[in-house]
Amino acid sequence: MRKLKEIFDQNRRWADKVRESDPDFFKKLSKQQNPEYLWIGCADSRVPANQIIDTLPGEVFVHRNIANIVAHSDLNCLSVIQYAVDILKIKHIIVCGHYGCGGIRAAWEDKEHGLIDNWLRNIKDVQRFHQNELDSLASEQEKIDRLCELNVIEQVVNVCQTTIVKGAWKANQELAVHGWIYSIKDGILKDLNICITKPEEIPSTL
Ligand SMILES: [Zn+2]
Repeated sequence: MRKLKEIFDQNRRWADKVRESDPDFFKKLSKQQNPEYLWIGCADSRVPANQIIDTLPGEVFVHRNIANIVAHSDLNCLSVIQYAVDILKIKHIIVCGHYGCGGIRAAWEDKEHGLIDNWLRNIKDVQRFHQNELDSLASEQEKIDRLCELNVIEQVVNVCQTTIVKGAWKANQELAVHGWIYSIKDGILKDLNICITKPEEIPSTL
């Protein structure tokens, strides 16, 4: 091994620690996964899904990308949602954004960063839909924080509009879609009070 030996050492220490508290943990987990939650979050290294909600491997099915976007043409994200809903029968889809999101800030500032600018267009769309509300806020920080929240809400709606989630609801499958936001500054999650359990609950004003 030429490099990064320390990561393998850390892995051994971690696996030993888990086995110490539950000797059969990995044996049980290797047989099947049975998560109740699908987490769609930001790729930011400071927002690791399992850790911030204190869950063990096996409890959360995870998809992360820059700025937790659910684009209707993103086959990667759609495949994750489809597998989670149709096969794993998860009961909750959580879209979790975070304050201080570099993707949101980059979209807001409109500077050029290369290929990523195309991805960030999704956030520029969110900004455009809510320009009036954003204009009404006093400081730039408030505007960016609100854009982080609005982006979560828009992506929750995008999840609900997929054929996968609509189909699950049609088949009376129990499934709730939630919008949360995380603060890097204090490690606290905030519920954005959007929890959709059927098509009639999708906000029509968005
Ligand atoms: Zn982010």
